[in-house]
Amino acid sequence: MHYVSTRGTAPVLDFPDAMLAGLARDGGLYVPHHVPRLTPLEIRSLAGVPYAEAAARLGKPFLSHGPLADALLPTAEAAYADFRHVAKAPLVQLDDNLFLLELFHGPTLAFKDFAMQWLGRLMDRTLKERSRRATILGATSGDTGAAALDAFANCDNADVFILFPAGRVSDVQRRQMTTLGRDNAHAIAIEGTFDDCQAIVKTLFSDLDFRDSLALSGVNSINWARIQAQIVYYFTSAVALGSPGRRVSFSVPTGNFGDILAGYYAGQMGLPLGRLVIATNENDILVRALETGRYDLRAVKPTQSPSMDIQISSNFERLLFDVHDRDPKALLRLMDGLKQSGAFSIEPKPLERIRAQFDAFRVDEEACAREMARTYRETGITLDPHSAIGVHAARAALSRDPATPVVALATAHPAKFPEAVAAACGVAPAVPEPIAALAGRAESYPTLPNDAAEVAAYVRQRARILQ
Ligand SMILES: *Cc1c(COP(=O)(O)O)cnc(C)c1O
Repeated sequence: MHYVSTRGTAPVLDFPDAMLAGLARDGGLYVPHHVPRLTPLEIRSLAGVPYAEAAARLGKPFLSHGPLADALLPTAEAAYADFRHVAKAPLVQLDDNLFLLELFHGPTLAFKDFAMQWLGRLMDRTLKERSRRATILGATSGDTGAAALDAFANCDNADVFILFPAGRVSDVQRRQMTTLGRDNAHAIAIEGTFDDCQAIVKTLFSDLDFRDSLALSGVNSINWARIQAQIVYYFTSAVALGSPGRRVSFSVPTGNFGDILAGYYAGQMGLPLGRLVIATNENDILVRALETGRYDLRAVKPTQSPSMDIQISSNFERLLFDVHDRDPKALLRLMDGLKQSGAFSIEPKPLERIRAQFDAFRVDEEACAREMARTYRETGITLDPHSAIGVHAARAALSRDPATPVVALATAHPAKFPEAVAAACGVAPAVPEPIAALAGRAESYPTLPNDAAEVAAYVRQRARILQ
């Protein structure tokens, strides 16, 4: 399988090279040359299959052949071995036709572990095979960083540097990043927002000198291998609910559009979908874009769901590419507009195509708290604020179409956001062992200004690539 950039001028790469590249050299995102399709029989045969085996089967067509493709099953088994639930992604019923897909049983208690543990192992294997080292650089609104540092701390051939917005991640999220005590795993606080952190990462990636001399590699959700890993739980949960004989809708708490994009690709692969519901907090650029056709940046507003406090939804570019008939020129026009004026308009035809598959709901702070309280009262289940936004939007989707089951993705464990949960539900969530263990560990991290040159100097000094 070959991978092409959404902006059309970066080299065409195979899976391992697209994975190592992260962002394409022309600033675009890698997408598969075509999306492999499964027959209904192949989908049905995923029923009852262990999660790791489903991951290996669904990953295979994206790699075609080569040593990585041959090692997918043991890689998947290792990636998901430490998850604290045998099903890995268990499905729980909340209400009539409303289901919760628990994606928080991995080592850092957020759904990002699914992709990051997979990516870390695939990268480590590829680097070792090529006797190469890499410098992983990424930005986080909280959970990506924890998941990346955990996944790459044991990767001998990589140094990992993660930028996070100072004071804008939860206590648990920060401790997960800053207490690892490994000299190849660096968390860096930046005086700015998540979008500032991401802008620094983009700047450093587009400095080709810096990029090449440090063998920079990206693990943000722009990395195709992460999207690919997330496709798996859309299939396993839909099949558990009767797919392919039955359509299933998904409601997905959305920030960078990576998670829900995997659902879109699951549909392209042949999974019969109902609606894909984009659930946002008050940072609602995607809701406004679907309503008006205008993608229009505004200031980021801090909320109780910080992992979705994002305005630039990077992965939306991949969907835009598809709905513009995969025309890089159309994409370049939109992205130029974004750069020049902080906005672009989606033409009626591509907008119709987006609306044909996606709905979007904005869930404000109060509705999020009410949803946490309601779900707790009705089921005894505590939701974290991100998951509550997904469940709230799922109920809105169900009121439009009560006959199609909706799976709401639970993206973080409630104990990652104990204050918000306690304020809404009146009880503190039970503290699982990985979080309890954080309290006694020493934190270590620098705070740097919102300045790409300073970050570059810091990374240069510590990355072991040059020694
Ligand atoms: C990252 C994250 C999201 C948003 O996922 P995207 O792929 O960025 O849309 C939602 N909830 C939690 C808990 C997250 O960590």
